[in-house]
Amino acid sequence: MKINRELCDICGTCVAVCPVDAIIVSEFFVEIDNEICTNCLNCLKVCPIKAIEESE
Ligand code: SF4
Ligand code: SF4
Repeated sequence: MKINRELCDICGTCVAVCPVDAIIVSEFFVEIDNEICTNCLNCLKVCPIKAIEESE
């Protein structure tokens, strides 16, 4: 999964729905650890501005 940092406003909504805690949030950006991510797509579905996409 990939987060578009230009769109993301660091609202934290995606962080709360990740079952494996793969989403790391800092003051300046949100990042997905694809080593941990299981591609459940929860984050993609809840992002209010569609800043998350599936990566190849
Ligand atoms: S796809 Fe699922 S496991 Fe991966 S970062 Fe999003 S919520 Fe977490
Ligand atoms: S839900 Fe979307 S806008 Fe909010 S922190 Fe996650 S990626 Fe960024």
